[in-house]
Amino acid sequence: MANDPNAKTVALSIRLQCADVQAVRQSYGAEFQSLGLFVPTKAPRPIGTSLRLQLRLTDGAPLFTVTALVVESARKGGMQLRFTAADRAARNLLTSLGTERLPPLLEETPTASLRAKKPEGPMIGIDLGTTNSAAAFVANGKPFVLPSREGYNTVPSIIALTDKGRLIIGHSAKGQMLTNPRRTVYGAKRLIGRAYASPIVEQLRHRFQYPIVEGPRGEVAVQLGDNVYSLQEISAMVLREVKGIAQNHLGCPVERAVITVPAYYNDNQRQAVREAGALAGLHVERILNEPTAAALAFGYGRKLEERVLVFDLGGGTFDVSVLELHPENVYEVVSTGGDTFLGGVDFDNEIVSFLLESFRSHHGIEFPGDRVAFSRVVDAAENAKITLSEQKEVRILVPFVALVDGKPYDLDVLMTRQKLEDLTAHLVDRCIQKCTEVLASRKLAVTDINEVLLVGGQSRMPYVRQRIHDYFGREPSRAVHPDEAVALGAATLADALAGASNADKAVLLIDVLPMSIGLGLPNGKFQKLIERNTTLPQTCTTTVATQSDGQAAIDVLVFQGENPRCLDNEYLGRLHFGDLPEAPRGAAAVEVTFRLSAECLLSVSAREKLTGREEHVTLSTRDTPELVKELLAAAGVEDGALEDRTPRGVAAFFKRVFG
Ligand code: AMP
Repeated sequence: MANDPNAKTVALSIRLQCADVQAVRQSYGAEFQSLGLFVPTKAPRPIGTSLRLQLRLTDGAPLFTVTALVVESARKGGMQLRFTAADRAARNLLTSLGTERLPPLLEETPTASLRAKKPEGPMIGIDLGTTNSAAAFVANGKPFVLPSREGYNTVPSIIALTDKGRLIIGHSAKGQMLTNPRRTVYGAKRLIGRAYASPIVEQLRHRFQYPIVEGPRGEVAVQLGDNVYSLQEISAMVLREVKGIAQNHLGCPVERAVITVPAYYNDNQRQAVREAGALAGLHVERILNEPTAAALAFGYGRKLEERVLVFDLGGGTFDVSVLELHPENVYEVVSTGGDTFLGGVDFDNEIVSFLLESFRSHHGIEFPGDRVAFSRVVDAAENAKITLSEQKEVRILVPFVALVDGKPYDLDVLMTRQKLEDLTAHLVDRCIQKCTEVLASRKLAVTDINEVLLVGGQSRMPYVRQRIHDYFGREPSRAVHPDEAVALGAATLADALAGASNADKAVLLIDVLPMSIGLGLPNGKFQKLIERNTTLPQTCTTTVATQSDGQAAIDVLVFQGENPRCLDNEYLGRLHFGDLPEAPRGAAAVEVTFRLSAECLLSVSAREKLTGREEHVTLSTRDTPELVKELLAAAGVEDGALEDRTPRGVAAFFKRVFG
């Protein structure tokens, strides 16, 4: 049959008989590894036909999209395809299968393909938590958390690989955390959307027991057994579990959701959560900041005119935001801040150190335990901490925790609430200090706050409540449930969006940028373009000029954070504008526009000033820190060029570098 390479691409969607990614690996792993797929069909396409192929799971959830060529075509049996380009999800899967040569990137994300067909049906709110996740839904005007068939209100955000090679999720995965810590992934929320080489991942690598590896785009990924999973895939598994609970409860397919993220999440992290949602077969109608969700749970429909502070102390992070609530369901974030390395796990660590010291002084030997023994001590420490929120003292007993010269040793310590408070007072000090900073950045006094809302499991500690009481001079509100407020707020927004035509339900959310966005200067310094706490949506334009005669391309490096050195901030990516007109140094210039949506998602466009050529640019985030340093150096300005740090000096420097 004749080949016509110019023939149009044929779009094809195939539903695999696989319930999840693991089943896909098992059934199709070998084929995919050789970048091929045999499609059984009674009507095979001719050899040379170009296909755009979307693969879906049994339940219809999109798995990935590739372009492919028909390379063999049996008249009746089917056709053999070879992949020619693959989207990110496909490339992640191929990488995890150990494929050596990946096909080029197909610039379409599952989110985009989902957007083409807007699903209908109920819209739920999902709190995708560090420790636990939950779904909520509004029925008869009231939001409620959807319980699982087993009666749990939350799903532990944990994925584990069993000894038999099966992936398990939630409560069963948590069950094997103690015995198999290297094959149990938790805390994915802290890693998702980050570059492997980022300073935060560098610190987190030593805190987690499972292997953290580099993914194909330089992003962080995790290894479970022989497979590498992207954090999007891991989070998608948790979301799919939560979605399943919602479907069971509501008795119909659920394809729409509002998903919450921490206020401090940067652009990469927000995009990654959207991708995870799409992989789980969810159209993410809106990404909502957790403190705003908590405020919605507190204030929706109550016609309040108040300023509230949301104090969110979770398992791994601390987040504090001030919001102004206006009677017509307007929620305006006015200041936000926090610490990505301050949470319940730090309280646990203090107890663990105390327990190991007690073990040493009691038995006269160092604690010799292996990973499993250590995990048992950590678990006992966390349980004791939670018990001490209810009781004044607790006995911590971990029998046979160590074996030395054939002799078993127990850990047996009596701990009081007072001791816990002594051990952790410095952590609560840090929380209070952050509150002071967040208030000061808007020149607010503690008396300007009408209500303090406590969110996150660690905020249940009585000492935390007491310190907040002392600092703000008022009892924190008891009107929101610390574990459920975020999911309930997400469901409230989902309901308002679903009934968008109903003016009574309409909600207006006004947010701020949690961390500044700016450019990397050639000397390694960070130049902020949009300051943190700037109200969203926001647009900012800057001009970048060529540095040498005839320069053909301009690269702009974009970072997010507050550190003066750009490499200490989160690298958002590189904007490359090529094919510049031949012109002397400084004459060719590109006007770059950064647009931040109300959801804090960043898009960038660039316009060449001489010709007016305009492009919407996707930030490339594949660059290693070494390449970033080289690119900065290549711009040709020596270190220390920014000697004059007065505003005028900085302006002059900028003019020199960027035109
Ligand atoms: P979250 O990420 O909001 O689920 O918070 C989880 C953290 O809250 C973990 O560090 C838990 O140990 C901690 N936590 C949960 N319940 C309590 C409690 N009653 N008292 C103190 N800490 C708690």
